[in-house]
Amino acid sequence: MEKKAVPGTDSNRQKAEEQLKKDQSEKAAGRGLHTLSYANLYSGQEINHELEVSRIELQMQNEELQLALDKATTATALYDYSPAGYFTIESDGTICEMNLNGALLLGKVRSELVNCNFKQFVSTGTLEIFIDFINRAIKSDSRQICEVKLIKNKETFIDVHLEGFLSVSEHKCLVTAVDISIIRQNKEAIRLSESRLKRAELASKTGNWEFHLDTQKVYASEGAIKLYGLDKNTLEYADIKTVTLQEYRPILDLALKKLIEENIPYNVEFKIKTHDTGQVKDIHSIATFDQEKRILFGSIQDITERKRMEDRLHDSELYYRTIVETSPDAIIILNSSGLIQFLSQKAHEIFSLQSANPLGSPILQWIDPEMHESAINMFNDILSGIPESKHHEYKIIKNDGTTMWTEIHGARLQGSEGQTQGFLLICHDVTQRKREKEALQIAHDELKNLHDNLDEAIFSVDPVHNRMLQVSKAHEAIFGYPPSEFYQNPMLWYELVIAEDKPIVDAGFPILASGMNLMHEFRIIRPDGQLRWIASRMQPTLDQDGKLMKVDGIAYDITDRKKAEIELMAAKEKAEESDRLKSAFLANMSHEIRTPLNSIIGFSELLSNPDFVQDGEFQFAQLINKSGNNLLAIISDIMDLSKIEAGQVEVKNRLFSVNHLMSDIQKEYSFKAFERKIELKLDPSNPTEEFIINSDQIKLRQILVNLVANSIKFTDRGYVEMGMRVKGDFLEFQIKDTGIGIPAEFKTHIFERFRQVESQDTRKYGGTGLGLAICKNLVELLGGTLWLESEHGKGSTFYFTIPYLAESR
Ligand code: ADP
Repeated sequence: MEKKAVPGTDSNRQKAEEQLKKDQSEKAAGRGLHTLSYANLYSGQEINHELEVSRIELQMQNEELQLALDKATTATALYDYSPAGYFTIESDGTICEMNLNGALLLGKVRSELVNCNFKQFVSTGTLEIFIDFINRAIKSDSRQICEVKLIKNKETFIDVHLEGFLSVSEHKCLVTAVDISIIRQNKEAIRLSESRLKRAELASKTGNWEFHLDTQKVYASEGAIKLYGLDKNTLEYADIKTVTLQEYRPILDLALKKLIEENIPYNVEFKIKTHDTGQVKDIHSIATFDQEKRILFGSIQDITERKRMEDRLHDSELYYRTIVETSPDAIIILNSSGLIQFLSQKAHEIFSLQSANPLGSPILQWIDPEMHESAINMFNDILSGIPESKHHEYKIIKNDGTTMWTEIHGARLQGSEGQTQGFLLICHDVTQRKREKEALQIAHDELKNLHDNLDEAIFSVDPVHNRMLQVSKAHEAIFGYPPSEFYQNPMLWYELVIAEDKPIVDAGFPILASGMNLMHEFRIIRPDGQLRWIASRMQPTLDQDGKLMKVDGIAYDITDRKKAEIELMAAKEKAEESDRLKSAFLANMSHEIRTPLNSIIGFSELLSNPDFVQDGEFQFAQLINKSGNNLLAIISDIMDLSKIEAGQVEVKNRLFSVNHLMSDIQKEYSFKAFERKIELKLDPSNPTEEFIINSDQIKLRQILVNLVANSIKFTDRGYVEMGMRVKGDFLEFQIKDTGIGIPAEFKTHIFERFRQVESQDTRKYGGTGLGLAICKNLVELLGGTLWLESEHGKGSTFYFTIPYLAESR
């Protein structure tokens, strides 16, 4: 058999022959004869040999085929179950063939997809990309890639990465499709996460960086780039250092060195000047190593704002500390239990603490034990937020044992959640003020005492607000209303002023408003009905604009003074009248005395002249006697009045008959009446029974005689009648005449000394004006009253009473 050269089989033949040799030598070693027989039978042996070699060769080819078949099966399995999908696609997109996973990617079984167009599974949005991809793959001799969205089972979208190249033999496109949905999702998640990180970094002004020690490269995050004002995220460590302000660079180097060499945590604060804007920022950076200590991971934070706040806080703290320490008041901070947490320097001074350390001790230790309750109440009030009770005066017992007074203003210190953290106390030393206040109070009390004890009413008025500032007690005595009424109604005094005097008071208001002092007098009617004279002195106070703002004044009752003034005036008038009357009296007297005296002297001269002592001797003697009697009567009247006014007249009572007295006088003066051609009679209604009374008969007679004589003197026609009757405990006498009468305006005056009814007839009737004054005095001396009724031109009736004493009835 001709040995046919089969490419690639030469080695098989060679291997087969080698195998045959090996087999034969193994047989020979076991069976020697066998080897010999082959050697001996060469031609037959040759065929056998060939056959054997062919058999072995076939066997080996079989084995190779089996191996190739196994490989093909494995390759098909790999092809089918590869995680990627493989498609053989024609240029128009028709699917010729695909592996199992390719069909699964499209949600179909392979048989359904053969001759289907791949395009129908591509989403509209990415269809153009796919068409372009196929065209590129078909036309080009290199691999083409694209990413498209496939529609699986008409509802699910999957992202696939396509890689395609042209199969030259078939002029078809071999496409590998890998589902990158998960990768896409992860990528998206990473992108989102990075975006969040970036946002978080930007919002929190933080950044991250990695420093690779081997390469000395620094990788900065977006946040870090932004913070440093960089324009790239990969840079040299030296670049980073240039951003840091010069003076901080050694600090950073040292921190890095310590982290690397001593594992001391990298935690530094420094200042940078940003690359882009040159803005200076405060940065806080912390960093740590990876496990291999090759990469340094760090984060940075912009703490400029915090630093600024800290600086501000520091400045503010310094500011308040300065206030606290320079405050003239002691400032104390207590915790919520009232224990001292802080004392300003002034507090140490005020409470004489010297070297003592009171922190942690209770504030109450300095407050007078008697005021502890009040202090506790104050703290409770502060806690309750009662504002008006937030300052109090307390007696403080200092460390050196002395005492002082302090005014405490308290406030609640509130925590961030509204809880009470403690109390702030501001203690103002009011010892001096307290002493001055006490002294002022004493002075005020003394002044008030003085005011209240003064008879004068002291007042102070605020006319702007129409209110009394001060009203002394004397108001009640003067105006009849207590001070409280004046506080309620400041114009009460004005309401009491009588209508007649109101113009006087009204005229005073403009004077006060002009700033001038005022003094005026007016009358009021007090609530008890009394009319009182009031004098008031007022002093106004004007403000800077010249507006009346206060009136201080004093008011006093001048009724007695006014009465005295009136009496004085009356007395003056009376004195002047007396003076005038005296002149008239003297003129009268000289006339009344001279007339009888001239008569006496004239006729006695005649009597002593022998030439005239003839027939007229008796008549002369009678005229002398009459004149003498007249003179005697005048002198008697003067003497009587003088005696009465000097209180030298005594009443000498004795029992006597009034009836007899009256009829005696009637008889005695009937002749005189007869001379005047009038009648003197007794009242027929006089009691007929005898009336014995116990009185001074001489004085009663003098009264009756005086009145009867006057009536006869001033009656030219008609009669004079003497009457008497009992009226209660009195006897009432009446001497009635039908004479000239007495004008009404003289009715009271004629009882005064030297008073006469002034008329042209005065001298006609003569007289001294003493008779009625004597009568009035005598009647009153006897305990009675004298009065008269008269009608001018028609007559007069004089009445008088004397007591009709019981024992005399
Ligand atoms: P005399 O009579 O001396 O003047 P009197 O005191 O007795 O003084 O009287 C005072 C005055 O009173 C008299 O001057 C007279 O004017 C008046 N008078 C007194 N009695 C009467 C009377 N009966 N009728 C009228 N006038 C009288």
